[in-house]
Amino acid sequence: MKNFRTFVFSIFLGLILTACASSPLNRRQVVLYSDAEMARQGISSYRQMQAELPQSNNQREIQYVQCVANHVIAALDEDQRSGSVWEVTVFDNEQANAFALPGGKIGVYNGLLAVAQNQHQLAAVMAHEVGHVLANHSNERASQSTLRNIGVAAAQVLGVSNATMQALDLGTQLGLFLPFNRTQESEADSIGVILMANAGFDPQESITLWQNMTAEGGARPPELLSTHPSPTSRMAELNRLMGAANALRQSANAAGLNPDCIR
Ligand SMILES: [Zn+2]
Repeated sequence: MKNFRTFVFSIFLGLILTACASSPLNRRQVVLYSDAEMARQGISSYRQMQAELPQSNNQREIQYVQCVANHVIAALDEDQRSGSVWEVTVFDNEQANAFALPGGKIGVYNGLLAVAQNQHQLAAVMAHEVGHVLANHSNERASQSTLRNIGVAAAQVLGVSNATMQALDLGTQLGLFLPFNRTQESEADSIGVILMANAGFDPQESITLWQNMTAEGGARPPELLSTHPSPTSRMAELNRLMGAANALRQSANAAGLNPDCIR
């Protein structure tokens, strides 16, 4: 039995050690799935949403969102851009929400256009969502829940008490998930503000966007506010990056990247 315990434990440990990677901001990550597998899952969920959720048929709205998306996508690194077939869909839904899935699939709910009041603010949201994809956050989230399940199963095999099991359960939820999500959100904010600036959009508008959302209260985008850094701390963090972001935007504008997406 002892050997078996060691065996289970070493598989668990091996899984964690072999799965380490780094985010674009050089944070260590545990990712268990291949990019191809994540892309396959992302694309399949996207097709399902396209089939099941109502889409906007307002051509003006669609062209506007597509225009902003094109500029954001054009600012990606070559391998990021050509590594996926990037695509945007405007869903007809009053929620102020947007998402991006592995495999390069972006969704915007047209309710977002009431909160993101110009092309720069819409770009800020999209670049944030794309930031989650670039930083492999879905993979990380999926891997955490897989590891958690394996950890619980391993603990059962190892014969730990119920109290320990509950502590483990609570620990993974409180100790791993929440802080991780907070980290992921600020990572997406940082990647997003740089990406939108590289596309030639005004990064300062990302802060105005947060002010709009705070003012909106009940109409806050669920994705953007689902996980936890307070708007104040997010705005402070964005402010910290503003000098660098402004410089990137100026270079982009000087290089002829001047988005002019008309609502
Ligand atoms: Zn987010």
